[in-house]
Amino acid sequence: MNNAIDSSLTENRLFAVPADFAAQANLTANEFAELQQKAAHDPQQFWADLAHQHLDWDTEFKTVLDSSDAPFYRWFSDGKLNVTHNCLDRHLHDAQRHKAALIWEGEAGEVRTLTYAQLHREVSIFANALIHQGVKKGDRVAIYMPMVSEAVVAMLACARLGAIHTVVFGGFSAEALKDRLEDTSAVMLITADGAWRGGKKVPLKQHADQALLREHEHSVKRVIVLRRTGADIDMQEGRDIWWEEAVSGQSAVCPAPPMAAEDPLFILYTSGSTGKPKGVFHSSAGYLLWTMLTTRWAFDLKPEDVYWCTADVGWITGHSYVVYGPLANGATIFMYEGAPMYPQPDRFWEMIARHGISVLYTAPTAVRAFMKMGDEWPARHDLSSLRLLGTVGEPMNPEAWMWYFQQIGGGRCPIVDTWWQTETGGHMIAPLPGVTASKPGSCALPLPGISARIVDDQGDPVGAPDAGGYLVIEQPWPGMLRGVWGNPERYIESYWAKFNNRYYVAGDSARRDQDGYYWVMGRIDDVLNVSGHRLGTAEIESALVAHPAVAEAAVVGIPHEIKGEAVCAFVILKHQHQGDDRDELGAALRVQVTELIGAIARPDDIRFTDALPKTRSGKIMRRLLRSIARGEDVTQDISTLEDAGTLQQLGAQDKR
Ligand code: ATP
Ligand code: MG
Repeated sequence: MNNAIDSSLTENRLFAVPADFAAQANLTANEFAELQQKAAHDPQQFWADLAHQHLDWDTEFKTVLDSSDAPFYRWFSDGKLNVTHNCLDRHLHDAQRHKAALIWEGEAGEVRTLTYAQLHREVSIFANALIHQGVKKGDRVAIYMPMVSEAVVAMLACARLGAIHTVVFGGFSAEALKDRLEDTSAVMLITADGAWRGGKKVPLKQHADQALLREHEHSVKRVIVLRRTGADIDMQEGRDIWWEEAVSGQSAVCPAPPMAAEDPLFILYTSGSTGKPKGVFHSSAGYLLWTMLTTRWAFDLKPEDVYWCTADVGWITGHSYVVYGPLANGATIFMYEGAPMYPQPDRFWEMIARHGISVLYTAPTAVRAFMKMGDEWPARHDLSSLRLLGTVGEPMNPEAWMWYFQQIGGGRCPIVDTWWQTETGGHMIAPLPGVTASKPGSCALPLPGISARIVDDQGDPVGAPDAGGYLVIEQPWPGMLRGVWGNPERYIESYWAKFNNRYYVAGDSARRDQDGYYWVMGRIDDVLNVSGHRLGTAEIESALVAHPAVAEAAVVGIPHEIKGEAVCAFVILKHQHQGDDRDELGAALRVQVTELIGAIARPDDIRFTDALPKTRSGKIMRRLLRSIARGEDVTQDISTLEDAGTLQQLGAQDKR
C-alpha cells in the first residue's frame, strides 16, 4: 500500500459484555447480525423498514433514497412528518405524559422537572409566540442561550414550525455570533440576559448587542430575551422583547404541521479544530431517524433510565443526544447548566448520586480533566446507579478509558466510545453495549447500515490489518449532512472531492485491527512524517498518557534536518506529579514512547504545560500547537479557541 500511516501501539485488553447486560439489551447479538445482513443485502429496504417502524409519518414516503444529484443525497423525500410530533406529541398517551422529559439543575443547585406534557405545552406556547413575532417556515432563528430548559424549548418550537434553528454556543464571543448571524441571515435571535458559569455571570445580551451593532450587516429583526441572571441590560425599543412578554397570552394549542422529510431542521457550525468552522445543515426525517436509532442502540435507553449527556446544546452532541435522539425515544434527560468543576471537582459525581443517573455520556477531555484532579473526588460518592458510560469527541487514550471504567463505572459499566461528527448527524462507529466486547481506545465496529472503509491515497481499500489510512464512508446514510449552508462548493471540496465523489471523506485517519475493530489515529491534517514513516497523533499521545504522571498530551511535527519531521510533545501532568523533576520525567517519557511504539515516535522535544489550546467544545487544536512548536506566528482562524491565554502561556507569537 502507498503511504500507509504506520501503527505499532498495541492495546490487547479486551472487556467482554457482562452477561446480565447482554440479557436485557435493546439490541442483542442476533438482532445486530440480522440488521447487518439486511443492510448489506438490501440497504434501501433496510432503511425503509426502520423509518416505518420508528417514526410517525403524516405522509408515507415512496422513495427511499434519491441519488439523482449525488453527492447531494435525499432521503424519504416524498414523505412528510413533524419532528416535534415524534419527540413530544406521540408520547402524550396514558401515564407517559406524566413522565419526566427533562430534569434540569442550575449551577446554584435549583432543580426543575418538566414532564412530557409540560414540555409539550411550553413548546406549543413558544411556537405560537414565534408565529406572533412573524417567524415563518424556512426562516433562520439563532439561539444563543445558557444550558437552561428554555434553550431546548426554543429549538423544538422552531422545529415545530419548520423554522431552521442555528444554536450558537453561549461561550462564544460577539464576533463568532455575528459571523453565524450573517452566514445564516437569521431573522431572529433568542438569547438571555446572561448565563451562570463558574459562579460568574456571562453577559450574553451584551455580546448579542455587540454582534447586532451595525444594522446593515445583519438581518435580525427581533431579539427575544430570557431573564436568567437578572443582570442589568439594555433592551432596544422595537427590536428586543422579554421571553415572558412574548409568551404571555399565547395559546397552549399549536398544531404540528407536516414538513417535507428533506426540509432543513437546523444549521450548526463544526468545532473549528482543523480550520474555519463549516455551517453544516441537516434534514428533518433522516436526521431524526438516525439520532433516534443510535440513541436506542448505543445507550440502550430504557423507560426507567435517567440519562445525562453532558454536552452543551451548542454542539452536535447536544442536538442529537440531549434533544432529538432521547426525546424521540421518550427518555428522561438530565441537563446541567454550569461549569463541571463548580463549586468543586466532584460536582458531576455528586449530581449522579443525587439524581440516580444511570447512563452518562461525556468527552475524553472531561475524563482527562477529572483524572488530573485525582481519584478521591469520585470516590466520595455512591455511583452505583450508573449502568453505562459513553464518550465522544476525541480518541480516548486507553489509560483514560481504564480510569473511566474503574473509577466511575466501578468496573461494571460498558463504555461506548462513539466515533462520529457534526456532519454525520449521529454515531457511526461504536461498540453496542449488549453485543460488542470493548477494547480501551477503540471505537469498535461500524453500526448497522454504515459502510466504513479505510483507504489509501488512491482511494483503494487498505487490505492489511492495522495499516492506517483515510477513514471514509462508502454508502450514503439518512443522518448525513445535506450540505454546507450557502456553500455547495465547500460541501464537495471538504467531503467528496478527494476521491472523486466515491466516498464521504471524514478527514480522520484510522486503522482496523485483525478483529475488524476501528482505531482512530488522529486528523489527516495532523499526520507526522518522521523519516518516511507517517504517524498519527493518537497513538503517541496515548503512549504518553500511559505514564502514571501524565493526564493529557498533544503531539505535533516540527521540521528536522535529517528526519524530515521530529515529534514535539506538549504534556500536562496530574496534580500530584506537578512537583516531579522535569528532566527525569522527560527522559522517562522518551523511554516509555520508545518501548510502547518504537524509537521512531520518540519525542525530540517535550514541553510541560498547564493547559493546551482547545476548541470551545474541548478538542485539542493541534494546528495552533504546530505553529507554536515551530516558533511561527499564529495567523489562523482562532474564532473557536476556548482560552486565548493558553497561547500566550505557551509562548505563541500572536500576530493576527
Ligand atoms: P472542524 O471540522 O471544524 O475541524 P471538528 O472536526 O472538531 O471541527 P466536530 O464535528 O465537533 O468538529 O468533531 C468531529 C471530530 O471529532 C471527528 O472528525 C474526530 O476527529 C473527532 N472524534 C469524535 N468522536 C471521536 C471518537 N470517539 N474517537 C476519535 N475521534 C473522535
Ligand atoms: Mg471536522
